[in-house]
Amino acid sequence: MDTRYIFITGGVASSLGKGIIAASLANLLQARGYKVANQKLDPYINVDPGTLNPYEHGECYVTEDGAETDLDLGHYERFTNIPTSQRNNVTTGRIYMNVINNERQGKYLGSTVQVIPHITDEIQTRIKALGETGNYDFVLTEIGGTVGDIESFPFIEAVRQLRWHSKNSLVIHLTLVPYLHATGELKTKPTQHSVKTLLEQGVQPDIIVCRTEHDISDNLRKKIALFCNVDPTSVLQSIDADTIYDVPLLMYKEGLDREVLRKLNMPYDNEPDLTYWKEFIHKLKFPKSNVTIGLVGKYVELNDSYKSIIESFTHGGVANECKVKIELLHSEYISDDNAKEKLGHLDGILVAPGFGGRGIDGKIVAIKYARENNVPFLGICLGMQCAVIEYARDVLGWKDAHSVEMNPNTTHPVIDMMEEQKKISGMGGTMRLGAYPCKLQKDSLVYSIYQKEEISERHRHRYEFNNKYLEDFEKAGMKAVGFNTKQNLVEIVEVPSHRWFVGVQFHPEYKSTVKQYHPLFAAFVKAAMDYKESKK
Ligand code: GLN
Repeated sequence: MDTRYIFITGGVASSLGKGIIAASLANLLQARGYKVANQKLDPYINVDPGTLNPYEHGECYVTEDGAETDLDLGHYERFTNIPTSQRNNVTTGRIYMNVINNERQGKYLGSTVQVIPHITDEIQTRIKALGETGNYDFVLTEIGGTVGDIESFPFIEAVRQLRWHSKNSLVIHLTLVPYLHATGELKTKPTQHSVKTLLEQGVQPDIIVCRTEHDISDNLRKKIALFCNVDPTSVLQSIDADTIYDVPLLMYKEGLDREVLRKLNMPYDNEPDLTYWKEFIHKLKFPKSNVTIGLVGKYVELNDSYKSIIESFTHGGVANECKVKIELLHSEYISDDNAKEKLGHLDGILVAPGFGGRGIDGKIVAIKYARENNVPFLGICLGMQCAVIEYARDVLGWKDAHSVEMNPNTTHPVIDMMEEQKKISGMGGTMRLGAYPCKLQKDSLVYSIYQKEEISERHRHRYEFNNKYLEDFEKAGMKAVGFNTKQNLVEIVEVPSHRWFVGVQFHPEYKSTVKQYHPLFAAFVKAAMDYKESKK
């Protein structure tokens, strides 16, 4: 079958959840047996979000092939269980970089290089390349930003051109239908205006999905349909949901997948198989127990900064039929004086990934608390590095032990820069990124969790455990139990005398999906459940 291209645009406001709608539709089409791929086009000029502060743009998601991408790719993977790659996320910066490189190589010799057609052609090439390489039935391309933004114009123009040449395409426009409390009314005008903006740019949406806090009546749907030139059956609502995982089922009820297939002249009589998803939702909504886990980080003001970790706990919780309550704890405000008060009630402590020195002391205090009080602990990337630093200082007695990232002059650089990183000067896309194999030691806790010797996990770091000190650590009771054998890198540390103390240099959170929860998160939740039980 030829690839069908579905575009998801946004109007009225940002943050309406285009990514979740795109992921939900992909999920429904997949449940009907189709092969789908999600893609995100980001209108900013950064080549990728790797150098962006999480406060700016939320978490940076890392794919198998080591692309640093928008966090929506995380939703796509979690909802469809299909690994994404660099192809699935393209920014304005990347598009321009390619066009400018082509120009320098003489590819357009003789012509003036312009937004139309050069930039718009490059955008279309990126969209089609995804469909062609993966042999997909559907490519769902989400256009970041809001229609009317200067930045997104070339993307909308590329959609217009692509639609002109291919009838196998469809545009879904996601808008906001606000509720005015004073008059008790839902208002459609902003939707009308945003569709007009899209029309001015030559794109007629086929389906309008309205984000709303209240049910949208048939009359309002008809009104939107009339003003926006769509079928009344093509005006759908996306009502606020308890959890993002409800959205595929809610959109199924609204008939989004059916409407898409109908509009593309494809059969839609068969029902999608949503059994697994419904079971997941049931377990999510009716847990048999609960635990409280502290997530210690420095970007906690913004939930999106730790999106994948939080979602991995949702999956790991469901695997145990347990609700995981997450307390986001700002590491800058944790100190020896208040550790008991802030951490004493927790059933597990996770220290998050991160960069730079801010908040590092609080992370180390939290780890010391977890280690000394036998509280289940998981350290991810910088969290693992902090666990090594804490052990060096408090168990081995090396008081100024540190990572050279924070203190280049430490007498005990227990975390050092990776050899390959020492020759690199640029910042964008230069870390150790993406999937690498890791070999587990058979007598370890992690082996009993993964149940296999060879695993593969995704990375994003410049610094690593300093092997010079390995023997000292092992003698003192912290064991290295996972290695990248090719580069001789320590990937996992454990403290076997502790109830559950694991530090991982990689990011397990990038690989947890609804269909395949991550064993490490599931085991950590189980350890927290057991610990909670033991306190009774
Ligand atoms: N800053 C650390 C490093 O570069 C950890 C990175 C991370 O937590 N992702 O090695």
